[in-house]
Amino acid sequence: MYNTILITGGAGFIGSHVVRLFVNKYANYRIVNLDALTYAGNLENLKDIKDKSNYTFVKGDITDEAFIDELFATYSFDAVIHLAAESHVDRSIMDPLAFIRTNVLGTATLLNTARKYWKDNYENKLFYHVSTDEVYGSLGEEGFFTEETSYDPRSPYSASKASSDHFVMAYYHTYHLPAIISNCSNNYGSHHFPEKLIPLAIHNIKNNKPVPVYGKGENVRDWLFVEDHARAIDTIFHKGRVGETYNIGGFNEWKNIDLINLLCMIMDKKLGRAPGTSAKLITFVKDRAGHDLRYAIDATKLNKELGWAPSLQFEEGLEKTVEWYLTNEEWLDHVTSGSYQDYYSEQYQKR
Ligand code: NAD
Repeated sequence: MYNTILITGGAGFIGSHVVRLFVNKYANYRIVNLDALTYAGNLENLKDIKDKSNYTFVKGDITDEAFIDELFATYSFDAVIHLAAESHVDRSIMDPLAFIRTNVLGTATLLNTARKYWKDNYENKLFYHVSTDEVYGSLGEEGFFTEETSYDPRSPYSASKASSDHFVMAYYHTYHLPAIISNCSNNYGSHHFPEKLIPLAIHNIKNNKPVPVYGKGENVRDWLFVEDHARAIDTIFHKGRVGETYNIGGFNEWKNIDLINLLCMIMDKKLGRAPGTSAKLITFVKDRAGHDLRYAIDATKLNKELGWAPSLQFEEGLEKTVEWYLTNEEWLDHVTSGSYQDYYSEQYQKR
């Protein structure tokens, strides 16, 4: 159905799993991975597929209008799967403008260029925008986010993603650009940059460093294994209805503190430490400003309409994830050197 697909942000955490899945599964597609290689982008994430004949990497910035135009002219894309973003809430609190630039202006630049190149024939064209459940704001102890939940973003990150979602739907309604959005819950798995809760905790436990937990660890998140997210994107990309939004989630809610305790138990086992050793590293730190209490996704529409369901139980996925970090120490050492140290001390050590 498609020939050449542009995947943006493919050197990042989720993007690299999506690129790998598409390159390996669809030999008939040409996959072009466009990534600016910010601190979060890492080509080591894709070293297993880098020489495949249907894969091309291009370094570039989605906010660079002339460059994006030239890229469309060169490759004649018939679909875009857009994941490139500034993705970390804490960084968005430090520097909101970077998030507005990439997430809003960058998305609008891609939309505008896709429209320019596709507008004479929208047939077999698709702009698939990957977004987050954080656009819906925060839940109390009950209820779930559905596709009908009103947007209520609370952080600069979620506000920038909400804005980008609105632009995608505005291009669909105003110009009839064929577009689909998916909003997914928190992902975990291999190749996750260690500023995020799970890889940060694994890294610190391994190195006997304090494991920072915001507030009292009461915040609840719904966790999904990243490869299940990539499968959901594949399903929605091929079977989803244009103009629709699909929520993706794991039906897997965890309080941060319960999750960290589970992780400590797994780490004790894997590192041959006495039970309870890793849990002693847990350190409660000042809560994140505007910290949303609870996110929980209702993914019924995706399940009923397109037949997708998560494949892994959380404990199994978490064990796999821990094993990956423990056997890929080089990857972790590489990404935690240099500028990561400056970020880490700014975020956790100067409180
Ligand atoms: P990530 O930070 O790991 O990766 C983002 C990638 O985008 C990096 O490779 C980075 O180099 C690239 N990038 C950043 N700015 C760019 C620019 N201006 N031009 C080109 N490339 C640029 O993020 P992730 O966690 O893999 O998230 C990917 C997408 O999925 C994001 O849109 C995010 O909002 C969404 N999402 C993430 C989660 C999650 O749990 N991580 C959940 C739901 C949705």
